[in-house]
Order: sequence, then structure tokens, then C-alpha cells
Amino acid sequence: MPETPYQVLIDKDLRPAYYDDFRCLSSACRLNCCGDGWHIGFDKKDYQTIKRQKGTPELNARLEHCVRRVRSGEFAGRNYGEFVLHDGVCPLLRDGICSLQREKGEEALPKICRAFPRSESCSPSGYFERMLGLGCEGVLSLLWNLPGGVNFVSDPLPKARRRMWEPPKDQPLPPYFQEIRSVCIDILQDRRLALPERIFVMGMALRELADGEEDIPRWLARAAVLADQIEPGQFLRHDSSTLSIFLMNNANNLHLLIQGGRPSLLGLAKSLELERNPESGHFRLRRSHYLSAQARFNETLGKQEWFWENLMVTLFYNWRLPDCTSRELLWRSYVNFCNMYSIYRFLSVMSCRDGVSETKEELFRLLVIVSRALIHSTGARFLSDQMLQHDSATLAHMAILLSG
Ligand code: SF4
Repeated sequence: MPETPYQVLIDKDLRPAYYDDFRCLSSACRLNCCGDGWHIGFDKKDYQTIKRQKGTPELNARLEHCVRRVRSGEFAGRNYGEFVLHDGVCPLLRDGICSLQREKGEEALPKICRAFPRSESCSPSGYFERMLGLGCEGVLSLLWNLPGGVNFVSDPLPKARRRMWEPPKDQPLPPYFQEIRSVCIDILQDRRLALPERIFVMGMALRELADGEEDIPRWLARAAVLADQIEPGQFLRHDSSTLSIFLMNNANNLHLLIQGGRPSLLGLAKSLELERNPESGHFRLRRSHYLSAQARFNETLGKQEWFWENLMVTLFYNWRLPDCTSRELLWRSYVNFCNMYSIYRFLSVMSCRDGVSETKEELFRLLVIVSRALIHSTGARFLSDQMLQHDSATLAHMAILLSG
């Protein structure tokens, strides 16, 4: 292990190659991020920039009452101003396009609107990382059209943007974060195995680190060849008892996410015809309902397994997994990742339920709703917290989450 104090010079960026290809779908987007009912907040400078704008009478009328100060509530202290939504829709949105952007150009927009779905920051990986969030239909379209998988690219940063980063002291894993993440992404992209098996194999490797493996270079060498020793179908089984637990777990996951209060999630539960237990408030899905959707999914969308690989690689990269801050958090972050795979898988299958004709559009709709819910919620953390409390965060239990 490198000796402490140990510092990392962040002098390059890192981004998925598809980052450079992203274009907002604009009026062609059916899941426009300006009409999803979420809080769109900004700082004082952006607030004043919007207040100063003048344009056509139509734009001026929209601008007049479109923003307000944030003085109380969840976002007070974090944001200076916010858009005043009408039925969840930004008042500047017209015919699927921002009327402020149309008349005054992108520079007139608050930073959050210019950036979404992009984000960027320095990372313990030693890179200035750029990423695209999954709550955007345009990003999902890019992932759908990448049968060769996600590649990453890097360029030097201008001098003014270079930074030093110092990992937490007395923790053995942070200095190896980038190497550990790389080996995990290699496993996720190893197409000799089905995707859920790859996630399981990754868990086998990470379990060793969580259990205290001290020789990290030796672990890296072992993890790099672990998938070579696995026979397809060796670990994961699909039967009626694993399916029952898988469905129960996902109904519970949705319940936890819905407690976050986003109306689009309640609509989602309704459209999936989840039944609510009147006493516990938990959801339930009839098994026959899922099985018939699964048969249709396997015949159609499910054949493009690369899409789910790209989705999970993107999530792994965006969430900076595994969390190497400590061994405990490393395992917790893996449990979260398995839960996310399980939720995405469940919703993907359900996009092919009876009565849905445009299954790919429905797939994107469901994935965008859940991904957006997770941007403003600690839901994913709750999922692993519950499992850890009930001693069900074991690798064997992860096998069930991966089996649906
Ligand atoms: S969700 Fe993505 S593609 Fe759609 S309007 Fe927003 S940024 Fe554009």
C-alpha cells in the first residue's frame, strides 16, 4: 500500500465515450425533464440573470412570475431561487422546448438547466469525472444504441482545473479505488457470462475485500481472472421460491421509494397494477402477471442484453462504486448495486406486461421515473439498510435479487 500521507494529482478528465455524443432530444423527448414535478433550484446569480431577461411579449409574460425565492422547506439554504411549477411543469416550457432558451440562447438558462443530465467533479479515482445521469431519455437512447458496450476516454485538464486530492487516512482501500473499480467494470463487461452472473462474480470478489483482505495488489490479480473459473449457470438458480422473494423484494423497494413522495412513482405503481396491502401499505404483484410479462420480455427487448450491461456499467461509474471509504461501506454499496439491478430488471420485465404495445417506450419511461426518484432520494440507501438490519445482505441473498 502506498505510504500515507498520500496525495493524488487530478490532472485528467474521465468520461464514457458516449458523453461526447449526447444531445438533448428537445421537443422529441416524451419524458421532458422540465415537466416532471421536481424542484428546479438555482443560486442568486442565476436568479438575477432570469429576473433581468426581456424578450417578446409572450416570453415576458412567462418570465413575470416564473421564479421565486426559496425561503423555507427542504431546499432552503441550498438554493436561492426556484422555478414556480404549474402542475409539475416549468412555466417556461412551450411545445416541448424552453421558451427562454429559444429566444435568448443557452447562456440565459440557470446552470442546472444547462447541465442536466450532465454532472462533473473531482473523484478519488484521480480523475475529473464527467457523467450523464440515467434520468434522461436521451441518455437511455445512447445506451440502447451501443451494442459494443461502454468505453471510457480521458483527456488532460487545463492547468487551472488541476487539483490535489488526499484520501482518508488509515483506510487501506481508497488509494486503490480506481484499480478496484476498473476490475469490477471489466467483470461487468465480461460477456462470457450472463449479466446477473457477472454481478454475482463481482460480489464474490468484493466479499473478500469486505472480509478484510489486506494484500490489495494480490486481490486485484485474483479478481481479474475470477470469471475465467466460472461456468455459466453455476451459481444463480431461477425457481418459484427465488421468484417469490424477488417479487416481494421489489414490491418492498418500490414502497420505500414511493415513501419519498414523488407523484410519478405513485402513478407507476398504479400502471403496474401493484396491489396494496391495506394494513401494511406494502405492494404486491401477482406472480402470473410477472411471468407473462417475462415471457414477452425474453422474446423481445430482453434479447438486447448489452443495454442492461451499459445501464449497470453507467450506474457503477456514476455512483463511484464500490465505495472504498471503508470495508463496511464497500459491501453496503455492492448491496445497493444489486438492489438497483433488481429494480431495473423488474421494471424492464414489467414494461412488456399485457396491454402495453410500445414496450421500448414504456421501458424508458419506467427506468427514467425510477432513476429520477433516486436523484432526489436516499431510497437506495434505505434498501441496503433494511437488508443489513435483517441480516439479509449476504451474497446468497444477492443471488436471489439477481435471479428475477
Ligand atoms: S430528459 Fe434529457 S432528452 Fe429529455 S428534455 Fe431533458 S435533457 Fe433533453
